[in-house]
Amino acid sequence: MLAILPPIIEINHYDAPRVWSSAHTAMQGTRMLEATMRETALLKAGALQNAILTSANFSIIATDEKGIIQLFNVGAERMLGYRAAEVVDKISPSDIHDPHEVMARAEALSLELKTTIAPGFEALAFKASREIEDSYELTYIRKDGSRFPAIVSITALRDDAERIIGYLLIGTDNSVRKLVDSKLNEAMAAADKANRAKTDFLSSMSHELRTPLNAILGFAQLMETGAPAPTLSQKRNLEQILKAGWYLLELINEVLDLALIESGKVTLSREPVSLAEVMLECRAMIEPQALQRGIVMTFPRFELPQFISADRTRLKQVLINLLFNAVKYNRPQGSVAVECAPGLPPGSLRISVRDTGAGLAKEQLAQLFQPFNRIGKETGAEEGTGIGLVVTKRLVELMDGTIGVDSAVGVGSAFWVEMRLASAPMLSFGDAEHAALPQTVRQGSRPLRTVLYVEDNPANLDLVEQLIARRPDLRLLSAPDGRLGVEFARVYQPDLILMDINLPGISGIEAMQILRAEPGTAHIPIIALSANAVPHDVERSLEAGFFSYLTKPIKVERFMEALDMALKSSHKALA
Ligand code: MN
Repeated sequence: MLAILPPIIEINHYDAPRVWSSAHTAMQGTRMLEATMRETALLKAGALQNAILTSANFSIIATDEKGIIQLFNVGAERMLGYRAAEVVDKISPSDIHDPHEVMARAEALSLELKTTIAPGFEALAFKASREIEDSYELTYIRKDGSRFPAIVSITALRDDAERIIGYLLIGTDNSVRKLVDSKLNEAMAAADKANRAKTDFLSSMSHELRTPLNAILGFAQLMETGAPAPTLSQKRNLEQILKAGWYLLELINEVLDLALIESGKVTLSREPVSLAEVMLECRAMIEPQALQRGIVMTFPRFELPQFISADRTRLKQVLINLLFNAVKYNRPQGSVAVECAPGLPPGSLRISVRDTGAGLAKEQLAQLFQPFNRIGKETGAEEGTGIGLVVTKRLVELMDGTIGVDSAVGVGSAFWVEMRLASAPMLSFGDAEHAALPQTVRQGSRPLRTVLYVEDNPANLDLVEQLIARRPDLRLLSAPDGRLGVEFARVYQPDLILMDINLPGISGIEAMQILRAEPGTAHIPIIALSANAVPHDVERSLEAGFFSYLTKPIKVERFMEALDMALKSSHKALA
């Protein structure tokens, strides 16, 4: 190592300066240097320990094994207002804590340790608690009686033989964080309240507006088609009234929709939806309008059925919105191309809607997806609220998808959504054959009973059709939305209703409530059949009045059991 040592003068607080001379042998020098280094390290550690103990930022209180304070550092003095001499050997930490908290803890510990801690011996509660290392939120009481919240960590101190020789309490003042917490909570509650008030206002306002609008649109249509027939100029005026009326209705609906989505009141189901089917329905709705403007539409061919994970109704709303915009903001004789390609995240599908419109400049792109921002279309011939894209974006995000746009001025825009792919809905058959068979055997001359299934997703309907087909005692009736479902229930008086929750128009819950409220249908048991399996929602639905709640994907055995249970009850109700 070191062959020659220069003279080193080591000065510290405790020892007198020592002089090392190069006359020492190298061996001796090395040994002495090592000793010095050890000493320095020890001193350094000692100095650190001292600094920790005298830190003013946290209180350090140590007690003996009986819980009597033995050490009370500067931080404790500062925080609690006592001088160390006033507490050391005199009191226990229990004496500077909120007595209620101490009692509560004594009781809790009595239970936990199965020993009783008598009143007056609360100090022991501390002792007992200190068998376990833990940190607590406690209230410290200063000498002047004032209180403050503290976070205190309590540790049992043990000797080499593992005997407890005392307890260590390290505490920090928690008042600032507590204050920030409560301010934050207050602010959040206020924001929440304001948000709810806004949403409630918008939704009640929308309902209020719709009522007079109904009269305007209704009577204008009556005049348009009534006798005597309106004159030519009257007809023109009526057309203006109707056009403005329908536009106003659209506006109100969009505002209501956005308000509901923003308030988190909209829950979307996530189930396999056949893209080919949805696309076909969208096409039937949009293509006639496109052709009127001389716009050609092309749609992808689906060689194999593609399923995406979505809420069927909302997915359709998203696609229609994009398709409708592509037609609306296109040039005459333009084109709209719908394309499907693998999306960026693996397992996703990108659906693009490409138009040949004016395209969007960079600044316009930045303002897209903002409510009431029609990015320069305000003065154009086309009416629109600018809410459509905002709603579309929120819906896509609620279905775990993404939305975006590529655009070039003078060329056109391509709006796209990326949605997760799903596998085709399948029955979890397993021992399904056994599950279905006994029913088939035991039914004999029993009358045929009717099951009404209210469902908007044909893939799900198909599954239930197959299941009911195995039951010769049952026949199936279906309705694609809540209103028709209610209507069918009134007319056909089914023995049992299966109800999807997320439906176009009124929800399954609303439909159920209508049916339960009417004497003609109140007796029919209604089973909820939903992709929403959140326990809280299931509970709420049962409380709302469903007979039982089944989640998708359907488990055959459970499905059949639930059917039999409900049918039995419906039988009793009739008897
Ligand atoms: Mn649905």
